[in-house]
Amino acid sequence: MKAVKLSVLRLARTAGLFRLFRWLSRSKVRILCYHGGNMGDERRFNSLLFCQAGLLEARLQWLQDKGFSIIPLDAAVTMLGNDRPRPRLPTVLTFDDGWYSTFRGLHPVLERRQLPATLYLCTGYFVAGRPNLDVTLSYILWKAGRAQANIQGFDAGVDGAHDLSTSAGKKRLAGAMLRWLEQNGASRAGVCADLERFAAQLGVSAAELDLASRRFDFVRPDELLQMASQGWSIELHGHVHQYPVGRPDELKADLARCQAEIGKVGLPMARHYCYPSGDHDADAHQLLRNLGVVSATTCIPGLLERADERQRFYLSRFLDGENIHPLEFESEMSGFADFLRRLAGRG
Ligand SMILES: [Zn+2]
Repeated sequence: MKAVKLSVLRLARTAGLFRLFRWLSRSKVRILCYHGGNMGDERRFNSLLFCQAGLLEARLQWLQDKGFSIIPLDAAVTMLGNDRPRPRLPTVLTFDDGWYSTFRGLHPVLERRQLPATLYLCTGYFVAGRPNLDVTLSYILWKAGRAQANIQGFDAGVDGAHDLSTSAGKKRLAGAMLRWLEQNGASRAGVCADLERFAAQLGVSAAELDLASRRFDFVRPDELLQMASQGWSIELHGHVHQYPVGRPDELKADLARCQAEIGKVGLPMARHYCYPSGDHDADAHQLLRNLGVVSATTCIPGLLERADERQRFYLSRFLDGENIHPLEFESEMSGFADFLRRLAGRG
């Protein structure tokens, strides 16, 4: 199916349709989303979450060759609310979560090109100062590649025989281990030792897991400040990585905590939000506006011409990554993919 899609896109590009749609949509704003960089084999484990610096490099080169203008998020949001002249093909670069690998691998790519970007920081993981437990546990189970396991030395929920042949089985073990770590984990070193002990029982060595590289950690305050001083705006991705659907008081507390943690580092008040995992409800715009937030991005692809008081809380964004073929990226950024979606919607 993907091969058919790529053939169609190749034909469209050869016929000059990408160029035509770039011209037709030259005033529309694009928002791109990335997550972490790649420091080992993480991109094979999760191609949406971790991408090589070379991929970002190639994307930015294409955008610059085709005359896209990389602009800050704040400027784009202002732009969407007025009719003033715009730079050609205005594009915003956003990065979610706050992975150390974003700082280590992707930030230098932007620095070399002197491009602005936005980091939507999930402050819970940031202040935890240890590897992201969810992702590290999923990685261990992926790396182990086992259909069965016998774990010992934790608690009744973790210990014993586990069927890992299904994703439900893997999820059950990861969930039990996560709970154990949250109850027992202390320092970063202690958590890493526990993760290594767990991984070893699944046949994954400490060297393979390579927690010392910090590939599953988040940025530290000094690294965040360095990014901010080099053109990154640090914005809101919640304190916990979850939008509390239907629970406005929780949203308020979560955003206040996220803003406070960013403020503690000495950074300006963060006012742009990114829905964790794209989840939101129909009242989100009212709730966020009341909390002083000025925009929010989703995970729904599309180009943006204008955004009124409501629409700026549901901004389209394209999730790029190792799982996206260069032709799909070009089609999306040229506005051809948006045209196809509209066509399909009407048909
Ligand atoms: Zn996220």
